[in-house]
Amino acid sequence: MNFISRSMCYRVTMSKIYNIHQRQDKEWKPKASPKPPEVEKALNAISALEGGIPRIEAIETMRCAKCLDEIFENSFRDQVSKDEYEISGHCQSCQDNWG
Ligand SMILES: [Zn+2]
Repeated sequence: MNFISRSMCYRVTMSKIYNIHQRQDKEWKPKASPKPPEVEKALNAISALEGGIPRIEAIETMRCAKCLDEIFENSFRDQVSKDEYEISGHCQSCQDNWG
């Protein structure tokens, strides 16, 4: 009897831990890719010229560095665009308008 209740308790605990893990995996939090300080400075200067905000600030607040639009995980077409956001801080439509 004692053994059964203990193993049930273990299973409940494990499923709680598992659920927490699942939730964390689903929550997308972009992380600015590391860049040399001089590159970061140059990018920030370009952003400022275009009326934008620094890349790192944009990514931390989940906005576009260029048009300041709010960013969501589903704002991007694919993983490549998502990765690109962590590099440039640009939203999907700003990425599409490159070139
Ligand atoms: Zn944008």
